[in-house]
Amino acid sequence: SPILVWFRRDLRLSDHAALSAACASGRPVIPVFVHDGLSDKLGAAPKWRLGLGVAALADALEQKGSRLILRRADQALDALKELIEETGAGAVYWSRLYDPETVARDSAIKEHLKGQGIEARSFGGHLMFEPWTVETKTGGFYKVYSPFWKSVKTRDVEPPRAAPSDLHPPESWPKSDDLADWQMDAQMNRGAAVVRPFVQLGETAAQARLGHFIAHLIDDYKDNRNTPATDGTSNMSENLSLGEISPHQCWHAGQRALQEGKRGAETFLKELVWREFAYHLMHHTPRILDQNWREEWDDFPWQDDGRAAEVWAWKKGRTGVPFVDAAMRELYVTGRMHNRARMIVASYLTKHLMTHWRIGQAWFEECLIDWDPASNAMGWQWTAGSGPDAAPYFRVFNPVTQREKFDPDAAYVDRWIAEGQEQPHDDALAFFEACPRHWGTDPQDSYPMPIVSLDGGRKRALTAYEARKD
Ligand code: FAD
Repeated sequence: SPILVWFRRDLRLSDHAALSAACASGRPVIPVFVHDGLSDKLGAAPKWRLGLGVAALADALEQKGSRLILRRADQALDALKELIEETGAGAVYWSRLYDPETVARDSAIKEHLKGQGIEARSFGGHLMFEPWTVETKTGGFYKVYSPFWKSVKTRDVEPPRAAPSDLHPPESWPKSDDLADWQMDAQMNRGAAVVRPFVQLGETAAQARLGHFIAHLIDDYKDNRNTPATDGTSNMSENLSLGEISPHQCWHAGQRALQEGKRGAETFLKELVWREFAYHLMHHTPRILDQNWREEWDDFPWQDDGRAAEVWAWKKGRTGVPFVDAAMRELYVTGRMHNRARMIVASYLTKHLMTHWRIGQAWFEECLIDWDPASNAMGWQWTAGSGPDAAPYFRVFNPVTQREKFDPDAAYVDRWIAEGQEQPHDDALAFFEACPRHWGTDPQDSYPMPIVSLDGGRKRALTAYEARKD
């Protein structure tokens, strides 16, 4: 009987344990993607990007004589049950995910299928180190990154598998939905056309991106990774987020670079382990996704209204602080933001504007094409000070000195801020094209005055912090 390979955030053919196992069985293989209540809940950009990824995977499968069967259902189980009935499939294989909602869904599906005599198997692949396999000496989980890194850095990471050569198509295919009918771009009010040029879509592009990084950028990565104007990082997060490449593939490429003496290689490996650490934390403390990881933060007087004027100014890149605004515009136009800039805008929102990190987390979830539940939550709580291994609250990033240090010739700010420039950069103008009309933004506007004084905002936050401690 056929095996259904249920693709979710693992949109690749190589280094795909579930697909390889299904193909190795010699039985017919039916690749499936189900658009269910969980994928429908994604923010605008992640959902749109997922739709593009699904289309790319369908193309890749067709080139190998297979297909991707698309089904839509509120409950993924209903779609899988229908397919099992239609195809006589005796097994469903998939790659494991780790956020609590997906885990609950998948566990219930596994139990139900097993009860029906259907083989249901989940495989690793989204992570290098299963979160429950990394333990402290006393058997607990890690709350601090450095010892986590030390405990995994010399572990064996399975070498990546090649894509299966024969995908064993079934004699007849079940019917498939039309991806266009799902309208996964429906919430992209800012216009998918603006963001599309910044996307590197699919497995082949992901491999090329990694190859380019290793060949040309990794040597200087350690120095360049902090300057947002330099294209000095791997940009793999977009593809890792949807599994268009596996972390194992990135890790082994990094290890080879290390052996060849490329200078930034160890730093790159460490960054990949930050992603693992985020998943480790989410697995052991799922509350990191929506509650202060440190409970003592629960009485901090965060401003919690996502529609407040100051929050809107932040979202629209109109705070009057050039580094912050440049970054927020980069996010809106490209669906990405440089890591240094992410820390600065997050610090500004949670400290200078004393706004709850959840509001920033939600906006990133709406806008990022590399959105990842674990890294986003960890990044926000780390910056806010409420997370494990967090930056202490009193370390308030100063966006002016940060700019002097990390964007000394203002190349980043100039790329993204059109106001006041005789010949604004195309990207700076693209932001205005992308803005919904009701935002009322115009490149002819004068650049706004700061909505809070940096010194005043900093002092306000620190006073609230000190008061909370008493
Ligand atoms: P590189 O510098 O080339 O690093 C290689 C890989 O290591 C990345 O692709 C990523 O998978 C991993 N990595 C690097 N830095 C981190 C980090 N700090 N935490 C976890 N993994 C890391 N990353 C996401 O993938 N999705 C998110 O939604 C996300 N939200 C964030 C929110 C905030 C507030 C902050 C401060 C950080 C967030 N990050 C997120 C982490 C980081 O900013 C991005 O992973 C990084 O900028 C991606 O660019 P890159 O692929 O060029 O990274």
